[in-house]
This record gives sequence, C-alpha cells and structure tokens, in this order.
Amino acid sequence: MEILEYARPRSTDEAFRLIREQHGTAIGGAAWLRTNTKTLALGVDLAGLGLEYVREAGDHIEIGAMTTYRELETSRPLKARFGALFEATVGHVVGIQLRNIITVGGTVAGRYGFSDLNTTLCALGARAVFHPGRAVDLADFIEKGAEGPFLLEKILLPASVRAAYQQMRISRNDFPILNTTSAWTGSGWRIAVGARPAAARLCREAMALLGNDPHPSDEKIVAAARAAARELQFGSDIRASAEYRRDILPVLIRRALTEVRG
Ligand SMILES: Cc1cc2nc3c(=O)[nH]c(=O)nc-3n(C[C@H](O)[C@H](O)[C@H](O)COP(=O)(O)OP(=O)(O)OC[C@H]3O[C@@H](n4cnc5c(N)ncnc54)[C@H](O)[C@@H]3O)c2cc1C
Repeated sequence: MEILEYARPRSTDEAFRLIREQHGTAIGGAAWLRTNTKTLALGVDLAGLGLEYVREAGDHIEIGAMTTYRELETSRPLKARFGALFEATVGHVVGIQLRNIITVGGTVAGRYGFSDLNTTLCALGARAVFHPGRAVDLADFIEKGAEGPFLLEKILLPASVRAAYQQMRISRNDFPILNTTSAWTGSGWRIAVGARPAAARLCREAMALLGNDPHPSDEKIVAAARAAARELQFGSDIRASAEYRRDILPVLIRRALTEVRG
C-alpha cells in the first residue's frame, strides 16, 4: 500500500469532509489496508478523533469505531453484559499484537466474508452509526453496504442480550471455515452465520421457528439448526467445500443455542 497524501483530521466533520469531498480513504488499524497493493491518493487517519471507547449509555452500549479487538476482549462493561462472548469471538484472530491494531470500524466497514466479529454484531442486533448521526441496522449494512462514501463513527449494542459464539477453524489462528452466533434478545431469537465463505447473514426461518420461547426444547433447537442450514447459501473455497459447511452448521448452531438457553 502506498499513500500519496496523509491527513490526520482533528474532528469527525473534517474526516467526513475529506472522505466525501476529496475521495479520501479512511484508515482504521490499517491491518487489512496494508495487505493490498493499491495506491491511496489520500489516506484519512481516524486515530485522532477520540473514537476509542466502550461505554454504557442507558439501555445500550456504544463502541467507538477505533476501538481495537484487544479492547473488546478485555472490556469490563462488555464482560459484565455479555460474559465471554467477545473474547470467544475475536480471541482467535492471529495474536495480541494484531488485535491491538485491528479496529471495529475497519471490520464493519469492510463487510468481510470471513469476519468473526460481524457475525456476533449481526446476532446481537447491533446498529451502525454513520457520521453525522445516521443509525442503520448493522446486519442490513453488512448485506447491502452503503451508497457513496461514509464514515462509520460507532456501533450501538442492546445491553441485555444473551449470546454465544461457535466456530470451526482448521487451526486456531486461521481464518474461520464457518462461524455462528445465537442470541436471545428478551423477546426472540437471532441467529447469524458468517464465513459461508460469504459475509454474515441472519437465519430468518430458523429464528421464526424458535419463536419467542426463551427455553426451546432440544427437538426445537435441532429443527431450527437444520432449518438454518437449508435456508442459507454456502460456497466452496480453499478452506472447505459448501457441503462441508452445510453439514457442520447445525452442530455449531445447536451448541450455541443450547449454551444461551442454559
Ligand atoms: C493477517 C490478518 C489476519 C486476519 N484474520 C482474521 C480472522 O481470523 N478473523 C477475522 O474476523 N478477521 C481477521 N482479520 C481481519 C481483521 O479482523 C479486520 O477485520 C481487518 O483487519 C480490518 O480492520 P482494520 O482496523 O485493519 O481496518 P483498515 O485496514 O484500516 O480498513 C479496512 C477498510 O475499512 C475502511 N474503514 C476503516 N475504518 C473505517 C471507518 N471508521 N469508517 C469507514 N470506513 C472505514 C478502510 O477505508 C478500508 O476500506 C485479519 C486481518 C489480518 C491483517
């Protein structure tokens, strides 16, 4: 990666102006950006904007776009609300050095198929807030993207969701072959599946099948897990075939649902 011009704006307004009007490229942790050989005419470093935070805000939790994976893993408010969920979701990503660099904003903005974090955020019913204050459903954004240049400012999480993450990898630090998170929101179930190898999607038929019962039977859980494998599309890549992914998904979903149900 080569950056011809580098800017380090002092406000989100300025950063957004550079991105929108001068075709600047937002720089989060740059861990992914630096893996490609593109030349950026203008790199807009988001490091000076105060977007590194995890904070309680009434009935939800706000996570700033520049918050790193390591901060997610070690955050007390997240642990208090979600137990080991974030540790389980991002703790496999390479090593602590990289997790100290990688950002939530770069992950959501990139809508990567392999993403572990985006799967969990979709299942939790997160919202993505784009400067200057437009909040959208994060799962919807992962599916459809945004029209035109954008600056992701923060993520909003509902504070009282219970969720569990499951994944399959060839080795601990490899990209996932498949990942899934199941969540009980207090009024219904949400199930997201990522690394299909395409990006995370909600399993709407499986979610409907579980209905609003916080304690579904083992039979209902198995039926929902199978429904999810039927309703989603899977692809093949160097890590696994579509058939393999379809075969293992019900097992991962069953484990996650059972963990949340208790
Ligand atoms: C070697 C390696 C291994 C990895 N392994 C895994 C893995 O196993 N599982 C996994 O889930 N992920 C993995 N990742 C991906 C990682 O988790 C991040 O998703 C990725 O690095 C992007 O985060 P970043 O902070 O580096 O973003 P950057 O590289 O800075 O940016 C990525 C993209 O997002 C844009 N962007 C950044 N921030 C914003 C913002 N606030 N608003 C708008 N646009 C923005 C940038 O312009 C760019 O297009 C890996 C990454 C690397 C480098």
